[in-house]
Amino acid sequence: MSLIDQAKALDAADPLAFARARFSLPEGTIYLDGNSLGALPAATPGRLADVVSEEWGNDLIASWNKHQWIEAPHRVAALLGPIVAARADELLIAESTSINLFKLIAAAARARPRRTTILTEIGNFPTDRYMIDGAAGLLGLKVRAVAPGELASAIDQDTALVTLTHVDYRSGARRDMAAVNQAAKAAGALNLWDLSHSAGALRLDLNGLGCDLAVGCGYKYLNGGPGAPAYLFVARGLQDELANPLPGWLGHSDPFAFADAYAPAEGIRRFLSGTPSILALAALECGLETFDGVGISEVEAKGGALGDLFIAAVEQGCGGAVGIASPRDSSVRGSHVSLTHPQAYAVMQALIAQGVIGDFRAPDVLRFGFAPLYNRFEDVVRAGEILADIVTGGSWDQPHFHQRKAVT
Ligand SMILES: *Cc1c(COP(=O)(O)O)cnc(C)c1O
Repeated sequence: MSLIDQAKALDAADPLAFARARFSLPEGTIYLDGNSLGALPAATPGRLADVVSEEWGNDLIASWNKHQWIEAPHRVAALLGPIVAARADELLIAESTSINLFKLIAAAARARPRRTTILTEIGNFPTDRYMIDGAAGLLGLKVRAVAPGELASAIDQDTALVTLTHVDYRSGARRDMAAVNQAAKAAGALNLWDLSHSAGALRLDLNGLGCDLAVGCGYKYLNGGPGAPAYLFVARGLQDELANPLPGWLGHSDPFAFADAYAPAEGIRRFLSGTPSILALAALECGLETFDGVGISEVEAKGGALGDLFIAAVEQGCGGAVGIASPRDSSVRGSHVSLTHPQAYAVMQALIAQGVIGDFRAPDVLRFGFAPLYNRFEDVVRAGEILADIVTGGSWDQPHFHQRKAVT
């Protein structure tokens, strides 16, 4: 059977096919970039219009109570619970991934005061690395970065915190969460995971695998819209022990007492700093609602199968003209596949010109994300065919495809 016939059969049997109608996708575009910016949920424009004109426009400041705006960081976080297998009172929507990283890195390091090292991986996502260095600089701690496979064995009695990204943003390789958490626990260190490329694509089990702390993006597989607020997770048993290093008034136990002295709220709320963006939370709520009634195991299985089929189409069409930079085994891969080509930037621009959207990551990576709620098997085979035409025919080599834009 040809790959396209296989794809059609897989689409016909897809238990998640119904979810595509929950999105508003442009006609004629094959969107393989939901790992950078999730597609627009069909419900979002109407919900935002209501929040703007009814809640903000009519009810004005009364909406903090009348429409429970004040509870939104918890209400929206509760929708994330089943997606990452954590309790609702361990999750909070707050600020950005970068800021949440800083808060939890510093909080964790201060909770292990006799230990002097923060351990991470070489090649961790840049914002993670910068926040680690920033927090370590302020607290007078050392940062140790080791090669990915060596992390679990590098944890020792001096490690306060082990922090890494679960799915590598370049290669798509998955890290062994259970092994790292076990090694960290055995040595008395805390663990902090960045789930930006995992939540909404892979079956996670934060409680079951002994995660202490986690953060991640709202705008990738969770479909919350550009710059959506992020989430953070603090295991219940640690919440009272950790102090928010950016203690803001909304994390106070009684914000409207306007007390001079900070007193942290009970539970997860203490990790909130300032006033949340209610419009952005409304959009993220619509994004998370696209997972209603969806089994995360099915999401993970489909993401893996989309990646496998894409790799097959690329190998069949491109031969040796591109390299495969992601694991071939979908059980150790996230939901994206990275290819290499010496002129990857221009190749991606040529693809985009033909309606196939992925992204470029320096120096030579073409990255394709598979969002199981709305990508179809047929899309990935077509994308592989179009890529094959471009790299074997050389149509990428035109001056306008070489011009770098600000965002790649
Ligand atoms: C996308 C991404 C981020 C983004 O952080 P922001 O604060 O939203 O800019 C952080 N970490 C990882 C691993 C990411 O993939």
